[in-house]
Amino acid sequence: MKHFATVQDLDEKKYKHVFFDMDGTVTRAKSIITPEMTSVLILLKQKHDVIIVSGQTLENIKKQTNAFPSYYLCQSGNHALDIVTGEEFWRKELSKEQKKEIMDHIALLPRTWPVTDENDLIEDRGSQISYSLLGHHENVEKKEAFDPDWKKRKKLLAEHPLVSNFVEVKIGGTTTFDYVQKGMNKGYNVNEFVKKMSWNIAECIYIGDALFPGGNDDTVLGVCDTLQVSGPDETLVAINKIII
Ligand SMILES: [Mg+2]
Repeated sequence: MKHFATVQDLDEKKYKHVFFDMDGTVTRAKSIITPEMTSVLILLKQKHDVIIVSGQTLENIKKQTNAFPSYYLCQSGNHALDIVTGEEFWRKELSKEQKKEIMDHIALLPRTWPVTDENDLIEDRGSQISYSLLGHHENVEKKEAFDPDWKKRKKLLAEHPLVSNFVEVKIGGTTTFDYVQKGMNKGYNVNEFVKKMSWNIAECIYIGDALFPGGNDDTVLGVCDTLQVSGPDETLVAINKIII
C-alpha cells in the first residue's frame, strides 16, 4: 500500500472508491461543507464512490456534508450505511463496562485551561465516546487555535496512556479524543466495508488529516492507499487530481 505524505506526491489515477475523513479533511471542525467542496465532490461522485469515515454521528455527518456521499461510516466506521437506500450494514455499540473504562480514563486527564460549557465536553455517541478538551460546540476558530500541532493531546496521552484490553483512544478533530472498542477503529472498518462491497482494495484511497501516529486516521495506513492532507484546501487539490 502507498502512503502519500503530501498532495503533491499523489500521482495515481486508478482510484474508484474514495474514502474521506470529515472534520479537518472535507470540512472544518464541526462546520458545514463549503459550496466549492460540494461541487467538486458532486463531480467526483459521477464516476467514483464517495465514502465519509468520521467519528461523528449519522445526524452530524448528514448536517455537515449536505448528504452528498454514497456511503457513511459513522463513529469511526462502527455504524455503516448506504445513504441512498438507507440500508444499515452494521452498528456496533460500546458496552456499559467499556463506557466505564473510557469515562475513568477521561477523569484521569488533567485540564488547566478554562472551558465555556462543562456539559459540552463528553459526547456518548453509542459506538464511540468523544471527549473535547474545549467543548464540542465551542467557536471553530478557538478550537482550531487550541492545539493546531496536536502537541497538547499527544503529551496528555503520553503522560496518561490508556492501558486496556477492551477500548482504545485516538486523537481526532481539533480538540478531541475519540474512544472506541479495541480494534474497532477506522482502519478495521474500512477494510470490512471494502470486503462487504467486494471492491478491489487497490482501487481505494483514504484521505485524512490525522494519518500521523496516534491520529484517528492512522489505523487506515496499510489497509489501502492513503493521503495526508493539511485541511480542506489540500483535499480540493487531491479530488481534482483523482477526477479524470
Ligand atoms: Mg480529521
